[in-house]
Amino acid sequence: MSELAPAPQHLSARVLGLAQLGLIVLDINQHIVMWNQWMASRSGKSAHRVLGQDLFDLYGELRGQRLEQAVLSAMQSNLPQTLSPALNPSPFPLYPAGSWGGERVEQAVSVTPFNEGKERYCLIEVSDISTIVGRERQLRSQAEQLRAQSYVDGLTGIANRRHFDVALDRELRRAMRNDGQLSLLLMDIDSFKAYNDHFGHQQGDACLSMVAEAFASMLQRPADLAARYGGEEFAAVLPDTSAEQAALHAETIRAKIASLNLAHSPKATKPHVTMSIGVATFDKDTLNDAAALLAAADSCLYAAKHAGRDCVIVYRGEQASAA
Ligand code: GH3
Ligand code: MG
Ligand code: MG
Repeated sequence: MSELAPAPQHLSARVLGLAQLGLIVLDINQHIVMWNQWMASRSGKSAHRVLGQDLFDLYGELRGQRLEQAVLSAMQSNLPQTLSPALNPSPFPLYPAGSWGGERVEQAVSVTPFNEGKERYCLIEVSDISTIVGRERQLRSQAEQLRAQSYVDGLTGIANRRHFDVALDRELRRAMRNDGQLSLLLMDIDSFKAYNDHFGHQQGDACLSMVAEAFASMLQRPADLAARYGGEEFAAVLPDTSAEQAALHAETIRAKIASLNLAHSPKATKPHVTMSIGVATFDKDTLNDAAALLAAADSCLYAAKHAGRDCVIVYRGEQASAA
């Protein structure tokens, strides 16, 4: 079988002109011997202007940089080199074709040494990775947004259960380490089923949002966390807060919700929307993990419901008592 004849020169030249990446060939002295149309249209420098020039005289800013090292190293070792786009995001001052100025084209650059006859050359390939980099940036920012959203309750905009779990765990470990104080409030809207039955689910949602907003606005310290624990239940994590301080806080929140004066169903205990609250405080011997603290606060919440609702009960050992 006969060997294929080399492509005619005009065909090679046409292909070089059409290539969708930058092609630069340097001789052993780093003088430019080839500069394709892609490079010309993005650099603003025609082949006619740059041929014969030292690449690193033409672009002084590249001197001593990774690209020059890669070219030298490729010429010496005869091994190809790739520049990491993360470390060398856009070595050449290239701009999108036809829109001179604006943002530099993000580039991936590889350097390949080769011999032709007795001469040693170096091919530099430059690809435009702006779209990929832009998409990566967008994905990263979307992931960040999703992460933030995954900690926020969709209806009320306050912290969700997941955020609450993480915060409670973190604050418990901190309290253990520092022998500190930490209180937990669990609160539940009274007769909320009756509210929904009377006003409808949509107004029920609006009521939950108003209660959440009022409750969250009562927590002033940056470390305090107001969360929707589930359904019509809310929770507050209060670091550096004793049982007495937490009881006062809970009472203020209870009074605030009652003072919103949101009309309730005739079947509810009170004519306006109210909340029952259970309070438990970290104790390094007895209430020292999330499950124990939640169970204690929940038993107080249950006791508050039995005590007639719209009240606060504080956990005091086995015996819960009214605040
Ligand atoms: P109690 O005073 O004992 O707490 O009575 P309750 O009616 O509030 O308690 P129950 O647990 O029987 O009912 C809770 C109600 O809360 C039932 C449920 O439909 C309603 N609910 C839970 N989540 C939502 C929500 O996201 N939106 C609305 N509109 N209602 C909800
Ligand atoms: Mg409930
Ligand atoms: Mg309820």
